[in-house]
Amino acid sequence: MSRDQILALIDAAVAAITANAEELTRLDQALGDGDHGSNMARGFQAIGAQREALAAMEPGDALQKAGMVLVTTVGGASGPLYGSLLMGIGKGLKAGKDPAEAFAEGVDSVKKRGKSDVGAKTMLDVLVPVLEAFQRRATGTELRRIASESREATKPMLATRGRASFLGERSIGHYDPGATSSCLLIQVACDVLEPTA
Ligand code: ADP
Ligand code: MG
Repeated sequence: MSRDQILALIDAAVAAITANAEELTRLDQALGDGDHGSNMARGFQAIGAQREALAAMEPGDALQKAGMVLVTTVGGASGPLYGSLLMGIGKGLKAGKDPAEAFAEGVDSVKKRGKSDVGAKTMLDVLVPVLEAFQRRATGTELRRIASESREATKPMLATRGRASFLGERSIGHYDPGATSSCLLIQVACDVLEPTA
């Protein structure tokens, strides 16, 4: 990943999260406490404020640093979870893993941090299917489609982790906010890193 790609990735992620913050908040009003949009906007704007410093780093170091920024600036569950994702990917890259295996390390960190897995109506319901497709070398187009379909699939699910789980059966019928932000971020990564696929 080049310096320009890191800058493009940061700028596109900040833009996508900022543009969709209201929608993320609206989804979290139905399932949680209505702060997912502001949490994500605050975290990604803090990353954006360090764009030059991050772009000067090796990708693995930049991801670890960006993950720490999320952990320290986002109060909600999503800060430590997305922080774990980025730090895990960064750690994997620094250990010499290929991008798919580094992504696997990030997703594993989210599972451990959240004591969670697929099927609980969380961001993992987007991240895990995308990871599995990435590991079998799916194209950017397929990854975008899988992210979008996986987010759609959270609507009928019953939440068993996070605040949404407090609603029990009433969690059914709403898209999960974290699955929605994960879908957005996957689209951004595909747009920037695989522009022709
Ligand atoms: P909070 O729940 O603290 O208000 P946010 O609203 O920012 O934090 O984030 C909520 C999102 O975090 C949920 O939509 C879900 O995708 C994700 N999430 C919550 N708890 C977990 C968990 N234990 N494992 C994985 N993801 C989780
Ligand atoms: Mg919330």
